[in-house]
Formats: sequence, structure tokens, C-alpha cells
Amino acid sequence: MGMEPRFLVDANVGKLARWLRRLGYDATFHPSQEDDSSLVRTALNEGRIVLTRDGHIASRGLARSGRLRVIHIHADDIASQMRQVLATLPLEAEARPFTRCLDCNVELLPLEKWDALGRVPPYVFETQKTFSHCPQCGRTFWQGTHWAHMKQALAQVTEPSP
Ligand SMILES: [Zn+2]
Repeated sequence: MGMEPRFLVDANVGKLARWLRRLGYDATFHPSQEDDSSLVRTALNEGRIVLTRDGHIASRGLARSGRLRVIHIHADDIASQMRQVLATLPLEAEARPFTRCLDCNVELLPLEKWDALGRVPPYVFETQKTFSHCPQCGRTFWQGTHWAHMKQALAQVTEPSP
């Protein structure tokens, strides 16, 4: 667990936060109204890898010396951005998809089937076996069609481009 990379996602590549959470990674979002120094401070304090399109952050002395880990994202579109992150770090082998809340960045906890009763639509309760929930926002998750769609989208993003 301790070796798992954690990320600080700059607002200029904000979509990466939810995509990394889909893979199970701890990815916090840095709001655009806060300045670069607060981003750098947070990354150093929390041991996070900075993802940004801002070349100034990547060229800081702290980054060049290796104390601050920065991935300077070049592409506009999320698929290329994800490919760059995945190509830079050997993430896939460690990824635990769908174990983290996309909104809260908190690890999901397993939910006993009977505890899901009344928390999910009756049809879902009848047809699904595995449930989990977010301890922060309380949302309940299950492996349904929603899950299949996410898997498909994830495959598109994580497959190497032709
Ligand atoms: Zn949540």
C-alpha cells in the first residue's frame, strides 16, 4: 500500500483525477484558484506526484532535482493524457479498478448484501451479488451495467494508441 503512487492533479488536467480514481489510485484535485506554491507544498507534504500542463512547475529546481515528482502532460484530450501517465509510470500492474469513490477519492468498503437492502433499487438488489459503499458520501456501488460501461471506457483509454 505504501508504495502505491499518489497523485495531485492540477486543475488544467482535472479530468485525470476521476480517471485515476477509476483505476483505484489516490488522486486529489488542486483547484485553479490556488497558486502554484500551494500545489508544490501539498505535493511535497503528502508525497504526491504532480500532474500538470504547466511547464513552469515541471522546470522548477525542485522538480529538476527530483525532490518534487512532476509529470508534465502535453496533450489536450483525456485519452492521450491517460496514455501519457500510464506510459510514464508502471501503474497497470498495481491498479485496483473500481475500489475508490470517484467523487470523494476515498476507498470503498464492502457492503454485505443484506445491508444493501433499501439502499439500492429492488431490481439491483435482486440481481447483484457484490456491493460496496463510500464511507464519506454514503453512495452505494455495485457491479452492474454501469460497471461494464466504465470498464469499456477504461479499456479505450488504457489501450496503447495504434
Ligand atoms: Zn464518495
